[in-house]
Amino acid sequence: MIKLSNVSKQYRMGSHVVHALREVSFEIERGDFVAIMGASGSGKSTLMHLLGLLDVPDLGSYVIEGREIANMNDEDLSALRGRVFGFVFQQFNLIPRLSAVENVALPMIYTAAHRDLSRAAELLDHVGLGDRLDHHPNELSGGQQQRVAIARSLINRPLVLLADEPTGNLDSASEREILDTLRRLNEQGITVIIVTHEEEVGAQTKRLIRMKDGEIVSDERLEPLPAIPAEPEKPVVGEVAGHSLLGGVFAYLSQGLSMLMANKVRSGLSVLGILIGVAAVVATLALGRGARQSIEQQMSALGSNLLVLRSGAVRVAGVTQQAGTVSRLTVEDSVAIGESVPHVLGVCPSINDRVQATYEGRNWNTRVIGATPSYEWMRNARPTIGRFFTEEENRLRARVAVVGVALVRELFGGRNPVGKYFKINKVNFQIIGVLPEKGFATWWDQDDVAIVPILTTMDRVTGKDYVESIEIQIDHASNIGWVQGAVEELMYSRHRVPASQREGAFRIQNLGDVQSAMEESNRTMSLLLAAIAAVSLLVGGIGIMNIMLVSVAERTREIGLRKAVGARGGDIMVQFLAESVVVSVAGGLCGIALGWAVSEGFSRFAGW
Ligand code: ADP
Ligand code: MG
Repeated sequence: MIKLSNVSKQYRMGSHVVHALREVSFEIERGDFVAIMGASGSGKSTLMHLLGLLDVPDLGSYVIEGREIANMNDEDLSALRGRVFGFVFQQFNLIPRLSAVENVALPMIYTAAHRDLSRAAELLDHVGLGDRLDHHPNELSGGQQQRVAIARSLINRPLVLLADEPTGNLDSASEREILDTLRRLNEQGITVIIVTHEEEVGAQTKRLIRMKDGEIVSDERLEPLPAIPAEPEKPVVGEVAGHSLLGGVFAYLSQGLSMLMANKVRSGLSVLGILIGVAAVVATLALGRGARQSIEQQMSALGSNLLVLRSGAVRVAGVTQQAGTVSRLTVEDSVAIGESVPHVLGVCPSINDRVQATYEGRNWNTRVIGATPSYEWMRNARPTIGRFFTEEENRLRARVAVVGVALVRELFGGRNPVGKYFKINKVNFQIIGVLPEKGFATWWDQDDVAIVPILTTMDRVTGKDYVESIEIQIDHASNIGWVQGAVEELMYSRHRVPASQREGAFRIQNLGDVQSAMEESNRTMSLLLAAIAAVSLLVGGIGIMNIMLVSVAERTREIGLRKAVGARGGDIMVQFLAESVVVSVAGGLCGIALGWAVSEGFSRFAGW
C-alpha cells in the first residue's frame, strides 16, 4: 500500500545540517501492525511525519496506492491526511476549549458534509469513554485524553493509523489500555504504525523496525501478515469532502463564535473597538444630516427671497466706526423701500433686545422683538390664539404684545394668556395673541419671545430711535440682485452718504447666501467629524487584525493539528476570517444600535 524508496530528509540549522533520515526504503502492507523503535533523535518522528504527509521528503519517492505524492496538489494531500491517515500524538493535541465529543468530531468539519456527533459519541463509547462525552480535555486523565485522540483519529475510518509514542506520557495501566485499543483496531483491518520506546510494546506488534541515526538497522517480522483483507471500500484519493456551502459557513461561524467565547475579555475588547468606531460614524453622519435639515427648515420658514438690510460700519477719516449715525436705519427708511422699490412685496423693520418680563411676581428674562404687522406674514407668525397687532396700533404706540409659547409657559404656567396684562421692563402690556411653536434655532429658543409694535418698542422699551434691520421680501428670486442694488442706491441718497464712504455703509444679506454658507460649513463640519469617526473605526479594525495575529501565533499547534486532520490552507484562513467576521459583525451591530440611540437621544434633546 505504501512504498518508500531512498527517502532522505535533512534539517538545516544555520551552517549545520542534520540528516534526520538517510535513504530509507521500506514497504507497508495493508493490515500490518508495525512498531518503529530507536533512540531519541534517530529520526522516528521525522519518518512518521513523512508517512502521514505532514512533511515532504527532500529526496526519494513516496508512493501510496500506486500514486507518487510528489505529483499531488494541496487538495489531494489534504484529502489523504483527512481520510486515509489517522494521527495519534504523544501530546494528545486535543483542543482545550472543545468537549471530548467535539474534539472527536473535529476532522469532520474538513472532510464530511456535516458533523456527525452521534458517530463521535459511538467512537468514544468504543474506546471506553461513553460516559465522558461532554468533558473537556482538562477534566480527563492522560490515558483518557489519549483515547479521545484515538477516537478522533478513527472518525473518518482511516486505512492507516499513525501513532507517535502514544503511550510516552502515560502510566503503565493506561499504556496497556491504549495498546489493547490499537491491537483491536488492527484486528478490524486498520493498518497501525506505532513509534515506541518500550521493548514490550514493540514485542506485541507484528513487525518491528529499528532505527539509528536516520537509517533502518533492522526489520523483523514477529507475526505473519493476516490474510489480505478485501479491497478498500473507498477510493484513496480524489474524493474530496463535499461541504454544502451553507453548512460549511455555519460550521465556521459557530467555530468562530465558540473561539471568541473562549476568550471573552479579549473578544469583548475588540468588539468594543469596532463598536465605538461604528457608533461614532453612524452618530456623526446622522447628527450632521439632522443639523443640516434643521437649518434648512428654519431657513425655508424665513423664505429664500428675503433680503436683510443692516447699517454697516462707516469709515470716518480712515477710522472704522460701528454703525455711525449716518447709516442708522429708521422706520421711515423701511416705508420708503416699500413704497419706491419695485418687486418688493413686503418690508419689516425690526429691533430686538433682551428684557425682563414679569407677571404676578414671576420674573423671566426674555427677548422682545419690535416689528411691524408685516412680520406676521413675512415670518409665518399667524397667532394660534388671538391676533397680531395692526398698523393702527403701531402708529398709536399701543402697548400690546404677541408672545411665544415658551414665554407663556414661564409666566402663565401654560394657561391661555390672551387678554392678560404683564410687564416688560416695568411697562404694562396686554397680550393679544400667542405665536405658533417654532422650536430651537441653532443657539436660541424662538418661542421665548414677545413681539411688540416697533414704535412702541422704541418709545417705551429700548429707547432707541433707530431700527436694527429691515427685512425685505421680494416677489421672485431672479430679482434679488436688482432689488439689492436699488435698495442700496435709495439708502445712499436718503442718508446722503458721500461716494467715498459708500463702501460698507450698509450691509445687505441675502438669506439664500446665508443658507448656503451655513450648509457649506455644516457639511464641512460633519465631513470632518465623519473622518475622525472613520479613523477610530480603522483603529478598531487594526485592533481586530492584531488580535487575529496574536491568536494565529498562539494557536500554531492547533493549526498544525487541523491541517493534520485534513484541513486545507484555505480552510484555516476561512476559519480565522470567520472569527474576525464574527467580531466585526457583533461590534458593527452593537455600534449601529449605539449610534442610533445616540443620534436619537441627541436630536430629541436638541428638538430636531
Ligand atoms: P526521534 O523522533 O527519533 O526522537 P526526530 O525524527 O524527532 O527523532 O529527529 C531526528 C533528528 O532531526 C534529530 O536530530 C532532531 O534534532 C532533528 N530534527 C527534527 N525535527 C527538526 C526540525 N524541525 N528542525 C531541525 N532539526 C530537526
Ligand atoms: Mg520523536
